[in-house]
Amino acid sequence: MTSYNLEVNKERRLGVFGGTFDPLHEGHLQIALTTVAAFELDRMLLVPAAIPPHKRGANISSPYHRMAMLALATANLPNVSVLTIELESPDHPYTIETLSRIQSSAVDSRIFFVMGGDSFGDVTMWREFRRILTEYDVVVATRPGYPVGVRPVREKLIAHLPADLQSRVIDLRGGQQPAAGTFSDRHIFLTDFATVDISATEVRIAAAEGRSLFGLVPPQVAVYISKYGLYQDQI
Ligand code: ATP
Repeated sequence: MTSYNLEVNKERRLGVFGGTFDPLHEGHLQIALTTVAAFELDRMLLVPAAIPPHKRGANISSPYHRMAMLALATANLPNVSVLTIELESPDHPYTIETLSRIQSSAVDSRIFFVMGGDSFGDVTMWREFRRILTEYDVVVATRPGYPVGVRPVREKLIAHLPADLQSRVIDLRGGQQPAAGTFSDRHIFLTDFATVDISATEVRIAAAEGRSLFGLVPPQVAVYISKYGLYQDQI
């Protein structure tokens, strides 16, 4: 992955990628690493959610297990860390609160908030979504899985946004480069960095069926899942 020339080179750039990570899989890692490379981030923070509001009541692994797998998977990745801010918050913070907290403890950093395409599809339901989409750079990782050459058109992906927010969208899919001057303002970037079409659901089902997790999750995560018998009750 080549990097986009960000023009402004003095600031520190921080990626923030939230998710359930039950478990972290190769798709997540690929998004994290390609985003670091493309936007020349100093660090990517993976932020496991306590219990995300839209998944309450679902069968989600203990935060300790999810955290352990994240720690194992990132131990040897110098630019990728885990931030436990949401796991430690008794108030189950909304994304805007988490981003504000990270920003206030890293005031000189420019935050690139990473979200999957499916999350982006319902972002207008999120608390203070307008602030999320204007105060931070947003990197939308669209899911792969379309036949070669076919991809959702930009208009379809952003139809749910109010017009003024649509005008902030920059489509970097298909190897497109940002225009000169792009990074002087905050934008919503559509990207196609993720080429492995894996979901955590698929990993849990594979584990429950006793199939190999090779290629779906990092080897140390596969060993952990087996050792602790995670996801055995998924089917
Ligand atoms: P589940 O199958 O349990 O819903 P998930 O694989 O989507 O899990 P999450 O922890 O919810 O994993 O993922 C965090 C974010 O990463 C979500 O916004 C999700 O859309 C996105 N994401 C996960 N896997 C991919 C992938 N292969 N390509 C693009 N985005 C992805």
